Amino acid sequence: MFTIENIKALEKLSTPAYVYDLPLLRKNISVALNESKKYGYKIHYAIKANNNPRILEEIQKLGLGADCVSGQEIDLAVRSGFKTNEIVFAGVGKTDKEIQTALKHQIFAFNVESVQELEVIGEWALVLKLPASIALRINPNVDAKTHHYITTGLDENKFGVLSHELDRCLEIIKENEYLNFKGLHFHVGSQIMDLSVFRRLCLKVNEWNEWFYERGVEVPVLNLGGGLGVNYEKADEEAIAEFEAFFAIFNQFLEPKEHQEIHFELGRSLVASCGSLLSRVLYIKNGLKKNFAILDAGMTELLRPALYQAFHKIECLDERESDNMVSYDVVGPICESSDCFGKEVLLPELKRGSLMAIRTAGAYGEVMSSRYNLREELTFYFKE
Ligand SMILES: *Cc1c(COP(=O)(O)O)cnc(C)c1O
Repeated sequence: MFTIENIKALEKLSTPAYVYDLPLLRKNISVALNESKKYGYKIHYAIKANNNPRILEEIQKLGLGADCVSGQEIDLAVRSGFKTNEIVFAGVGKTDKEIQTALKHQIFAFNVESVQELEVIGEWALVLKLPASIALRINPNVDAKTHHYITTGLDENKFGVLSHELDRCLEIIKENEYLNFKGLHFHVGSQIMDLSVFRRLCLKVNEWNEWFYERGVEVPVLNLGGGLGVNYEKADEEAIAEFEAFFAIFNQFLEPKEHQEIHFELGRSLVASCGSLLSRVLYIKNGLKKNFAILDAGMTELLRPALYQAFHKIECLDERESDNMVSYDVVGPICESSDCFGKEVLLPELKRGSLMAIRTAGAYGEVMSSRYNLREELTFYFKE
């Protein structure tokens, strides 16, 4: 059960605020590490899920690599102590400056998403006389069965090199002594709850692995990306993601060649459960058809519900159970109708000042916050 005991001691709890439960974060990641180590797998943390300095510090200390999607994230990862040779860099729109940053740091691999990008990386590597390790991102056309905004592995998505371009990519790499072929990269989407998606991914990866093998091209690393989902309904009961089942699927269905390294890029499943957004009720409005609870937090603090109708469990921390449960539309103060955290949520009767927790907000929460409406800066609390 979520409590704010050790924060309540503070004179005045300031809201809206993110609370991060660091012991839970450590526990969750230990489970991920133990399960992955059973099979010798390596995990890169997808920094875009949460780049709070305290979170990065904890994750770096536990020995994970980093998965970055911008030059700024690469710089941050390096400053946060992640080893440069354990950083991978994905993204369809890497700028020249970002490519230079990655070259300068000599990161583990560029996850390359197009022929043109590969050419540009090759040019910069030649100019700077710095080698670049290349993993080709292949779009495996596997349906992640998740929200269409977070599906990335279908032919219609913008991600990855097209299969008919692979020969051309290998040629470019061969012709440029500064380009080293490091392996293949896949990432089919996020918040994937149907684990059979990963089985289908394995089968596609096996085919591609064979394709390269038949051409006599050595593939040192297979990077399977991330996407493991978390249970937003059962914030406490299932705070640890399904790492055991997840890695077991790859062990069962993936057919790596000898000496091939297997890498993953996990974001959400590592950090989602440790974060909650705290907010107070500003006003109760009893409409003709609905009751509204208007919070001091909104889409500017947590965008996921407005952006992709994501579900977050909403709790009242002052009173958990009541004989008198009331249905509320829980909304934020922002001037947008999409600024709604939940419709028809059953809660004990709320009043002005009621303290609320919006749970499982540790991933894609703080990082997507904005100053829209010139909102005040967020406050952060940590459970040590
Ligand atoms: C966002 C992203 C991830 C992490 O995805 P999660 O669903 O948070 O695990 C991994 N790899 C790439 C390339 C990404 O863009």
